[in-house]
Amino acid sequence: MTAKFASRKENQTETTKVKVGNTVFGGSEVVIVAGPCAVESYEQMQEVVTTLQTLGIGCVRGGIFKPRTSPYSFQGLNQEGFEILDAIRRETGLAIISEVMSVEQLEQAITHFDCFQVGSRNMQNFELLKALGKTGKPVLLKRGLAATIEEFLFAAEYILAEGNPNVILCERGIRSFDPMTRNVLDLAAVALLKELTHLPVIVDPSHATGKRSLILPTSRAAIAVGADGIIIEAHPQPERSVSDAAQALSLTELSTLVAQVEPIALAVGRSLARQANAFNKTKSASSHQ
Ligand code: PEP
Ligand code: MN
Repeated sequence: MTAKFASRKENQTETTKVKVGNTVFGGSEVVIVAGPCAVESYEQMQEVVTTLQTLGIGCVRGGIFKPRTSPYSFQGLNQEGFEILDAIRRETGLAIISEVMSVEQLEQAITHFDCFQVGSRNMQNFELLKALGKTGKPVLLKRGLAATIEEFLFAAEYILAEGNPNVILCERGIRSFDPMTRNVLDLAAVALLKELTHLPVIVDPSHATGKRSLILPTSRAAIAVGADGIIIEAHPQPERSVSDAAQALSLTELSTLVAQVEPIALAVGRSLARQANAFNKTKSASSHQ
């Protein structure tokens, strides 16, 4: 079985470019996306995006519909979250990447999100994939908890076959037997996906490892192996994060990570994507001093 739309054609060397706001995935530049696991408050998001702007990061992540293992855990701010994300987008121009788990949530979120994340647990929610295909808007499709690479590509195919070419694949680790890491980061899958498909492929070291100290080394490895980007969970006070606290970086750690992955991007003939507005902001901020 081959995926008609997702497969890389013979002699097709280019990666498909997917634009989210002003950020291009799949170009020569490696993209960094960051933000908290869950949107918790306006103040939390504002602190996060202030750091993102100084780092030149153009896309912020943060869930308002959270797929939690237990129904008793925090499920996300839902409607209230839209207002926070709208304000953040209006005030900063940053693009919003956020998860939808159902067609109903997609309909609610359509004007609020710039890129719809499909979480691991919904990689084979086929009705959602078809509906996302009809929107034409960018989709960040995460690999299922135990999905084969073929299943992953066919999930993307559902979106592409509806006429939406804007799909970004995300390797976020797969289930294995050892609880010392949350998942096993399948870096070979990243290299293989780059062979098999023309779609941009990014890596989520946060969910792949579940452990703060492992985010930097796996981010460096992801870029070295050819990932088109990384998506990182970061929080102003990681220990107070309502979800995924153990894997959240502080904003200082995020800044360090950006500096420390840059030489790897350069070593593989790429550079880091930086939004110009961040530099303007930094410049005008310093000219007032
Ligand atoms: C997330 O991005 O917060 C998330 C729930 O990721 P995943 O679907 O990869 O577990
Ligand atoms: Mn998370």
